[in-house]
Amino acid sequence: MAKAEKGVSTKKIAQERIDILFERAKEAQNEPELSARYVSLAREMAMKQRVRLVKCHRRSFCPSCHAYFIPGENLRVRIQHGKIIYTCGICGAVTRIPLNKKSEPR
Ligand SMILES: [Zn+2]
Repeated sequence: MAKAEKGVSTKKIAQERIDILFERAKEAQNEPELSARYVSLAREMAMKQRVRLVKCHRRSFCPSCHAYFIPGENLRVRIQHGKIIYTCGICGAVTRIPLNKKSEPR
């Protein structure tokens, strides 16, 4: 009965599950409650396993109500003063992302 406590894999598995949850959230776009639930699950998992959400995930949902963003549906994107402004169409939360082109890791 080997129990591999330590190691590479826990975080990697968590990361994979997070990816899957975001995929599901995307697929459930027309069921906002369901997709928000997938997003919360993914966030919980990230917190528990202490993995960071990759940028594309972090920006794909509302930090306040966890709605999965659907551009043109529940998300308004504007560019102002060198920043991207995301406005959640559900709770109205505003996220500002600086637009600097320093080699962003993908
Ligand atoms: Zn929101």
